[in-house]
Amino acid sequence: MKPVRTRFAPSPTGFLHVGGIRTAVFAWLLARQNNGQFVLRLEDTDQKREVAGSDEHLMKSLKALGLDYDEGPDIGGPYEPYRQSKRLLGYKLLAHELVEDGRAYADPYTPEEVQAFREQAQAAKKPFLYRNHRPENPPLWDGTQPLRFKSDPKPYKWHDAILGDLSTGPEVIDDFILVKSDGFPTYNFAHIADDNDMQISHIIRGQEFIASVPNYLNLYEALGMEPPIMATAPHVMAPEGKKKLGKRDGAKDVLDYIRDGYLPDALINFIVSLGWNDGTEQEIFSREELIEKFCLDRVQHSGAQFDERRLLWMNGHYIRELSLDDLYEKVAGYWPPEAESYDDSYKKQVLRLVQERLKYFAELPELTRFFFVDLPIDNNLIAEHKQLKKLEKSDLHELLEAAEQSLQQSDFSLADLTERLNALLEASGQKPAVFFSLIRIATTQSPSSPGLADSLAVLGKERSLERIAQQLAVLK
Ligand code: GLU
Repeated sequence: MKPVRTRFAPSPTGFLHVGGIRTAVFAWLLARQNNGQFVLRLEDTDQKREVAGSDEHLMKSLKALGLDYDEGPDIGGPYEPYRQSKRLLGYKLLAHELVEDGRAYADPYTPEEVQAFREQAQAAKKPFLYRNHRPENPPLWDGTQPLRFKSDPKPYKWHDAILGDLSTGPEVIDDFILVKSDGFPTYNFAHIADDNDMQISHIIRGQEFIASVPNYLNLYEALGMEPPIMATAPHVMAPEGKKKLGKRDGAKDVLDYIRDGYLPDALINFIVSLGWNDGTEQEIFSREELIEKFCLDRVQHSGAQFDERRLLWMNGHYIRELSLDDLYEKVAGYWPPEAESYDDSYKKQVLRLVQERLKYFAELPELTRFFFVDLPIDNNLIAEHKQLKKLEKSDLHELLEAAEQSLQQSDFSLADLTERLNALLEASGQKPAVFFSLIRIATTQSPSSPGLADSLAVLGKERSLERIAQQLAVLK
């Protein structure tokens, strides 16, 4: 078998959502699993679509996810250059070979003429095929006209490493453009030349290319090249509905997820799960496990639904698995500004309390601000509370006052607080949702918090009682 060499070949068109990077993850896993190489190649031959800065953006995204590549535009490699706009001479030479062999010709038509052919076909209710209008005596190709492939229509049977055995008839083969009038090759031509030059063993790409594969096979034949193994990944679908995931469907750019404090391992796990599982119920896979277990023939054929709640759940799982010290280091840049004057030991106590509930690091300020600063009293917290809003102000006052009295006697150790809160609850005859919510609101001015006794123990006696006194004043 040929050594495994896979590639990620994105076009630098800006935004890179998690669906777009999935083929990179698949390709990376396959390379690492087989001690092969993973190559990054920038397909920048469509200058109209290019977005400045996206090269760096792409490379940063791969690096942030830990998808290290062995060859690429910024690190070089044995098949340089890894940027198609720097490989134009090679495409030109190959194009001339095809012309000489009688397998490519200059397209003499204007876009309007081609459009007219298309309309004729439509009117006759026939599929449009350019080759039906192939010119008998094409002009000499001077590089200003598009260059077309002179196809050799025939049926094909091939094996797709994900979709299995496929076949098509000759009717899908047509004379497609190899080189555009601006001198740049099309994707259809350039990727074939490059994958061959770069000794790529597997092409893993999205479903949008499947209809063109018979044409590619026809071109490989004309060039006398052996096609790599092809694997077609299903679409990543928008959370609702039946359409492909796009920018507007809630999927953020990979780097935005990283910035919001999603862990690279969780992202990788999530991205692979968009279309792959190992056939068991297992959902959490470490990177090492994925390298060991991933295989193309277990990638599903139908669209994979993008569900951000699943990503949140997975990320929360990875966060809970971290040691406190490790997590503390990772969240360094995410604390609310008010935390700055607090020492490591206090912040670690706070972090230990929220680790269980933290889904991504950027949530940290919202979950922890009250540990660092006295928030203003928010009357809505009681007014909108399902249970508390049913009670009279005077009853609330009475309940909270009882709590104040007991807590004044407490040493604020976790054990003592737990005991007192339970005794108070029992004496009050109220449900925990009523009684504990009241104390929670008074001491945190937040609708939710970690365990009440835990939170009070970390806040300390003075602060907790001060806040309770303030709430009592408002309830009077
Ligand atoms: N440049 C193509 C794209 O970004 C690559 C497809 C492929 O992997 O061959 O869609």
